[in-house]
Amino acid sequence: MDAPFFFHALKVNEEVCIGCSHCMNACPTEAIRIWRGKAVIDENQCIDCGECHRVCPVNAIYVDQDEFDTIFNYKYRVALFPSVFIGQFPDEIKASQVYKTLLEIGFTHVYEVERAVEILNESILEYQEDTSREHPIISSFCPAIIRLVQVKFPSLVDNILKLGTPSDIAAQFYKKKLIDKGIAKEDIGIFYITPCAAKIAAIKSPVGEEKSVVSGAINLNNLYNRVYRKIKEGNPDNTIEAEPTELYDFEILWTLTKGESSRVNGRALAIDGIHNAMEFLEKVENEEVTGIDFLECRACHEGCAGGILNPQNRFLIVERMQDRVARNREKGGNITPSGINNYKEYLKRKLPLGEVVPRSMMMLDTNMAEAMKKMKLAQKIETQLPGIDCGACGAPTCRALSEDIVKGNASLSHCVFVQKVLMKNGEINMDTAFAIIDKIWGEQRVVRGSLKKNNEI
Ligand code: SF4
Ligand code: SF4
Repeated sequence: MDAPFFFHALKVNEEVCIGCSHCMNACPTEAIRIWRGKAVIDENQCIDCGECHRVCPVNAIYVDQDEFDTIFNYKYRVALFPSVFIGQFPDEIKASQVYKTLLEIGFTHVYEVERAVEILNESILEYQEDTSREHPIISSFCPAIIRLVQVKFPSLVDNILKLGTPSDIAAQFYKKKLIDKGIAKEDIGIFYITPCAAKIAAIKSPVGEEKSVVSGAINLNNLYNRVYRKIKEGNPDNTIEAEPTELYDFEILWTLTKGESSRVNGRALAIDGIHNAMEFLEKVENEEVTGIDFLECRACHEGCAGGILNPQNRFLIVERMQDRVARNREKGGNITPSGINNYKEYLKRKLPLGEVVPRSMMMLDTNMAEAMKKMKLAQKIETQLPGIDCGACGAPTCRALSEDIVKGNASLSHCVFVQKVLMKNGEINMDTAFAIIDKIWGEQRVVRGSLKKNNEI
C-alpha cells in the first residue's frame, strides 16, 4: 500500500476495542471498517475530525500526542495556547494565574495565539479584494475541514483560503522575536496547546506548507489538569510574574462559531459540526446555493470550544469567553498595541499557503484510467447489493463495500444477503459463511449452538 497522505493523531487501541461499530457509523468520510472484530482506520480517508473518538463507548480511540516532557528538549520553551484554554478554568481562577502557572511548570514564554488574529483579519480582507478568486472562499482555519475538502470535495480545493491560521502567525512571530534577541534557532521549542486532534495532524503534516514552525502539540486536556492541580496545591512561585496578553473582543471570539465570518466582507455564513459542514459543502458543490462570499466551516459544534480535547462543556466555555469580552468592555476595551504589530509586514509575507491538492477519497487506483474503470465496476457491484447500509459486512454502506471489493479488500460474499443467495445456489456452505462472519466480526461473535435450546426462544 502507498504511504498514507497524512499523519494521523487518532489511533485505535485494539486491546480495548470491542468492535461495536459505533465509530464506523459516525465517521463522515467512511474511513472505518470492522475487521476481525476491531475498528480499522483507513489512513488515506481519515481527516482527524474526532467524531469516532466522541462516540466510542470504551475509549478505544486515543490521541497520539507529544508528551509534556518533550518541551524540556529545548532551552527556550514557548507555550502558544488558544483562548479556549483560559475558557476551561472556573471563574475564581484568573487568566494571570494560568499564565503564571504555565511558566511555573516549565515554559519560559507564554502567548495567546489570538493576538495574531488582527493581522490575519486584515490579510483576509485584502485577500477578498481580489474578486477573481473562486467563491465562496472557504476558511482555512479548521484543519479537519481542509482535509474534508481535499478528500470529499476535490472540486472545491481552489476555494480554500490560502492563508495560514492565527497559531501559524503567532508561532512565526515568537520564533522571530526570540531569534532577534540573539537566541539560537535550535534552542527554541514552540508548543501549541491543542483542543483538537486535527491540529496535531496539521502540525505533523501541514497542508500548503513544507514544515510547521511549531515544534510540537500538547493535549489541552492534559495541560489543563496539570495547571489546575498546581493552582489548587497553592504555593505559587512569587518570583514569577505574568501579565495576560490583551485581546480585542473579536480576537477572543475568533475561534468560536461566527467568530471569523462576522469579520469578513460580503455575504458570509458560519457552519459548525462536521456533518453540517458536509451537507452544506455538497450544496455548494452542486451549485444549489450560490452568491456566498465567505464560508466559515468548523468541524466541531461551537467551533474550538467543541474540540475533543477540551475537558469542559462547550457551552460553559463559550459563556466564559463571552464573559471575558464583557469584562473587557467594562474596562473600556483599550488595548495597548502589541509587539506583534512590529513584525506585521514580515508575518504577512509568511502567511500565504502553498497549493492545496485534492485527495480524492475514491483512491481506487493511482492511475486515472484504471480508477475510472474501477469506479464503473464499483457502481455495477453496488447495484447487486441490497442498498440498506446495514453495516453487517464491516463497511458503513453498500457503496463503501463495493469500493472495498474493487480495491481488493473485500468480496461480494461479505454481504450477509449475498451469502444467503450463494448458499441457496450451493456456491458456499454454512461453514464458509461462518468463516466470513468470523473474519469480519471476530471469532465466536455469534452463538453457534441452538438458540432455541439455550435461550428458550
Ligand atoms: S477522525 Fe473522523 S475521519 Fe478519522 S476515522 Fe475518526 S471519524 Fe473518521
Ligand atoms: S466505537 Fe469503534 S473503536 Fe470504539 S469500541 Fe466500537 S468499534 Fe471499537
